[in-house]
Amino acid sequence: MSGIYIHIPFCSKRCNYCDFYLVTNLDLISKFISSLKKEITLYSELVKENEFDTIFFGGGTPSILSADQIEDLLVHLAKSFKISKFPEITLESNPEDFLDKNPGEYRSAGINRLSLGVQSFINSELKFLTRQHTSEEAQTVIQNAFKHFENISLDIIYSLPSQTIEDLDLSLTKAIELGVSHISAYTLTYEKKTVLYKSFEKKLFEKNTDSREAELYNYVSEKLTGNGFEHYEVSNFAKENSRSRHNLKYWHYENYLGLGPSAHSFFNGKRWNNFNSISKYNSFLAVNDLPAEEQYEPDMDQKHLEYVMLALRSDGINFKRYRELFNEDFKVKFKKQISEIIKNNFALLDTYRFYLNENGYAIADEIISKYF
Ligand code: SF4
Repeated sequence: MSGIYIHIPFCSKRCNYCDFYLVTNLDLISKFISSLKKEITLYSELVKENEFDTIFFGGGTPSILSADQIEDLLVHLAKSFKISKFPEITLESNPEDFLDKNPGEYRSAGINRLSLGVQSFINSELKFLTRQHTSEEAQTVIQNAFKHFENISLDIIYSLPSQTIEDLDLSLTKAIELGVSHISAYTLTYEKKTVLYKSFEKKLFEKNTDSREAELYNYVSEKLTGNGFEHYEVSNFAKENSRSRHNLKYWHYENYLGLGPSAHSFFNGKRWNNFNSISKYNSFLAVNDLPAEEQYEPDMDQKHLEYVMLALRSDGINFKRYRELFNEDFKVKFKKQISEIIKNNFALLDTYRFYLNENGYAIADEIISKYF
């Protein structure tokens, strides 16, 4: 089964730390929707052999679109692609959008999973991140969303400058108390060209050290695993049966088709990405051309590294999947590395897979670059 990612490149205002492709001119939305529908139609013939069981509206801020616009897109997708009987359909959303919109309308439109960009339950932290909602508003929106959705995920950003363990605990405790079934917890990153990075260069604040960041990371995983969440990817935690089926496609090296400006695709072994420009995106589709840069097929070494990296950062190297992809036995090929990593208490092995434990997750990137 394959997944569909749809990039909705609109936000009403850019947050200071964000470097995603997006525009703030919301007048472009209706033209974009026509282009997106055309892109879907163009792909319908190319992927007609494939069945899709996840659809993920990401961005940007997909909840900027109305429920009717989302429904229109879902109807068009269902007409154009083979969609499985029980797909997971996620809408990334900002809390402030549901202050005057009814989440129930999105549920009726077909969305069955909400991913809310809450980031923190502390107002001073939200202000630092230039978010447009308050902690109180986010709590009201989540409580209301539960009247319509069982499957709600929150994004939390941590390791803000001078954040204490108590601050972090407050946000995590609130997320747990609200009863969400999935939490994605990311460290704050300082991407060049962002306003946040410029403030850092001006020395307006100091970044956390690596060891402080590791301490906060360990706290996040202890707190969430201690409260019934499974740590199933370096930055992702889920209650039972609540893993993101869509994101698992990335980590399990499965097909996904990316639609919308800047979206990436990995399909039948090939990678490509759409142009990072809404005007270029629209103009290609106006003449029935796919708005994508050239495809390429990663060579075996690249594929190997990509798979090992994605798998070890999530639920591990699955031996069957490894054999399907590389026609080799992982346990034989990496016998020495496996035993050394296990001896150092960074990983575990069972009949089906080799996977990192909590110690290993904390230094996943180092393990991957040292051993693979
Ligand atoms: S809401 Fe999300 S996508 Fe939009 S600017 Fe903020 S971080 Fe970026």
